[in-house]
Amino acid sequence: MQRKINFNAGPSELPPEVLHEASKAVKKYEKAGLSILEISHRSPEFLDILSESKLLVRELCGIGADYEVLWLHGGGRMQFCMIPMNFLSEKDSAGYIDSGHWAAEALEYATHYGDIQVLATSKEDKYSRLPHWPSAIPKQLAYVHLTTNNTISGTQWHSIPKTKTPLIADMSSDIFSRKQDYKQYAMFYAAAQKNLGAAGVALAVIHKDLLGRTARELPPMLSYKAQAKENSIVNTANVFGIYVSLLMLRWIKAKGIDAIERENNQKAKLLYDTLDNSKAFTPSVKEKSQRSLMNVCFTANSPEKEKAFLALCEENNITGIKGHRSVGGFRASIYNAVPLESVELLVKLMGEVGA
Ligand code: PMP
Repeated sequence: MQRKINFNAGPSELPPEVLHEASKAVKKYEKAGLSILEISHRSPEFLDILSESKLLVRELCGIGADYEVLWLHGGGRMQFCMIPMNFLSEKDSAGYIDSGHWAAEALEYATHYGDIQVLATSKEDKYSRLPHWPSAIPKQLAYVHLTTNNTISGTQWHSIPKTKTPLIADMSSDIFSRKQDYKQYAMFYAAAQKNLGAAGVALAVIHKDLLGRTARELPPMLSYKAQAKENSIVNTANVFGIYVSLLMLRWIKAKGIDAIERENNQKAKLLYDTLDNSKAFTPSVKEKSQRSLMNVCFTANSPEKEKAFLALCEENNITGIKGHRSVGGFRASIYNAVPLESVELLVKLMGEVGA
């Protein structure tokens, strides 16, 4: 079977070079003379993988030794749990910006651990826009949590106002997609299965000032402090997943964030321009300055056009183009590894449905 053209929201398309290297390593990881699946998480080969990946994260984010870089289990949702467990005591409040499905889920998880203030929400508009950023953020909050890119509704914060309260950002669906000031965050994290590799792994980068806080005693698996002390190997680490993330980081570095950002802008512009000028389709996010460069959401203007477009996508070997089951419609996820040609094909098929 021919390889499909992949617009999945995550797990999503990975670069061919990364897939090639990863599959070679499954057969034999040369440095160890074993499959990458067979090497110990305490072996020198894996310790090298860990240290190179952490160095690359620091380099690509422009951060220094005042941040800890951790590779953790459990994808994005485990971070939804660990953040309030570690940083929100029963006596404290945390602020959450409710900008989408995942932001709301992070918020809901946190209600189990302390008091939550919803600082802004666009729930009443079904998250089709970003909420208004709060005019003042209470200083006494333990932290403020936000989601930089809303994977399901297709909105993205293109800049975040500075604040003195520690900011924690879920960057699962836009990390390393553009230049940005990572230092404005006390913590940022990402589930790996979009721009950073395979599902199950999460990258968490935490400033030492925040890491110093302890809301409650926790078992080492769930404690950021213990994970930092143990170099992310409290238990048997996800050796293969972290190796795939290292391959992704090498690919990002070789390509360069500037070039990645340029290509991402080009892909998104092509899609949004087509949608804005189409009589057959409507972009879901009306406010242009809030549109995501990673997840382009749209609907067809009639059930017939929807059916015709789906059939054309299928004929052309395209997968992952349906919107999230909670919103319907369509979503083209155009992460870093999705080539411009895939977007050009999609735009051509949109034209065939109706100009
Ligand atoms: N945050 C964001 C922004 C996401 O898009 C997702 C999943 N698509 C998650 C968190 C949840 O990640 P996971 O399925 O790894 O728990």
